[in-house]
Amino acid sequence: TTTVGVLAIQGGVIEHISLLHRASEYLHSHSSPIKIPNFRFIQVRTVLQLSECDALIIPGGESTTMSIVAQRLGLLEPLRQFVKVDHKPVWGTCAGLVMLASAASATKQGGQELIGGLDVKVLRNRYGTQIQSFVADLDLSKILGEEENQKPFRGVFIRAPVVEELDQEKGVEVVGVYKGKEKEDIVAVKQGNVFGTSFHPELTEDVRIHVWWLRRVVEALKEKEST
Ligand code: GLN
Repeated sequence: TTTVGVLAIQGGVIEHISLLHRASEYLHSHSSPIKIPNFRFIQVRTVLQLSECDALIIPGGESTTMSIVAQRLGLLEPLRQFVKVDHKPVWGTCAGLVMLASAASATKQGGQELIGGLDVKVLRNRYGTQIQSFVADLDLSKILGEEENQKPFRGVFIRAPVVEELDQEKGVEVVGVYKGKEKEDIVAVKQGNVFGTSFHPELTEDVRIHVWWLRRVVEALKEKEST
């Protein structure tokens, strides 16, 4: 069994777990070149629960709150270890992307503790407040492939961060942009075991990114086994 956790301090936890279940059903009902294991999806609030996980999602919500609570629960260092030392697959959505950045701007009171793992600097709340939330079609062919990308992915942006600086030499790869009126914003990146999106796939019915990510998790675990 492969255990995938969702950090359950705050934010869109249940939504991710429900899409993970759907993605797992999808993977088990379609033929695949890799063997799909049985999955267990758990909420992570303690160091012990984190230690059971093979991979982790950090959901959207509010990253300052998430960071403060993670620190109080003694989870910050174990999370850093999980991402940067154990190199386990981790995906952050929105506030989760902020947590996985190495730096964040537009942060009040001189900053917050981040987990890191992605060599990027994010700009928080790029599009303004809650009422400036929007939905936009995105081209995610870089991760989904041409076939799965035939219809655009509906990106849900809620007080979303964007990536404003990145370190290409460290292997950060841009896999999704939002074409705004004035300029393009980077809204999906990956670097090794770490993946981040500005938007919220867990707030849609679209299971494609969760399917893609779970496949990557399986592949990463297989690679680890064979080394
Ligand atoms: N604005 C929030 C933050 O900076 C993220 C919002 C979200 O996750 N929907 O943490």
